[in-house]
Amino acid sequence: MAELHVRSVLVTGANRGIGLGLVKHFLQFRNPPERIFAACRDPKGEKAQELQQLASKHPSLVIIQLEVTDPTSIQAAAASVTEHLKGSGLNLLINNAGIVKWNSLDTETREEMSAVYDSNTIGPLLVSQAFLPLLKKAAQGSPTSELSCSRAAIINMSSSAGSVEEVYLWDLGQIISYRCSKAALNMLTKCQSLGYREHGILCAALHPGWVQTDMGTSSGLKPPLTMDVSVQGMLKVLCSLSEKDTGTFLNWEGKVVPW
Ligand code: NDP
Repeated sequence: MAELHVRSVLVTGANRGIGLGLVKHFLQFRNPPERIFAACRDPKGEKAQELQQLASKHPSLVIIQLEVTDPTSIQAAAASVTEHLKGSGLNLLINNAGIVKWNSLDTETREEMSAVYDSNTIGPLLVSQAFLPLLKKAAQGSPTSELSCSRAAIINMSSSAGSVEEVYLWDLGQIISYRCSKAALNMLTKCQSLGYREHGILCAALHPGWVQTDMGTSSGLKPPLTMDVSVQGMLKVLCSLSEKDTGTFLNWEGKVVPW
């Protein structure tokens, strides 16, 4: 399998679930990135123990504190990554952190709708804004003018649950706030692709499939996809992305998901 060649990558929500899976797979590459920034909100906490153990074995893995709903934390994370990169840019930003609240049309509340939108939509917007100078730097320093994940890219972890056409797994749960937040994230991805094209930054939304993680199993049913299958699939997709794919919504198999 062709492998993604990136010098540096940052993954949000990297202490468990798909985020941790991505970090583990990057570490296993034949040519791993020189710097893998694993961002999580509580680097010293219980839920980051596996990440801490990995970091103690792999000098290329840097754990960064990042709460995506907190602008101060986002700015501090961007400053810290800038320092670590010592003048280089950041090739790949994966906005993976996200939450779900199991509400229905009847039970959805202002508070929960706002909290989900804050994490799943506003978070990726603000994180992308903060890391934009580093992404631009990576794009400018690249020997090629073609868009690709190896050059500079923002990947937003979306969901077919936010596809207006598919309304994936509606019978399993209405999860109104989650669906709306991901539909909005898809629009954000499109806007980013249009706005950042001139800076040489590819932007795409990905649906990882229904995956066996805390979120994936929170419905009470066992999802069909293992983490490894989902992550391997997504990495293959990332490797294949080019000019024509910026502003698209794809699943872990590289198939287009309808908006
Ligand atoms: P998990 O619930 O297993 O993990 C979520 C991760 O996001 C955790 O690391 C969590 O950190 C982090 N996170 C949540 N809120 C914040 C925040 N405010 N700031 C920083 N980090 C935060 O989810 P998955 O791994 O399953 O999901 C990852 C992404 O994939 C999400 O965006 C999700 O919507 C999407 N997705 C997942 C599917 C699935 O079937 N699993 C299907 C479709 C999309 P902490 O440990 O601190 O809570």
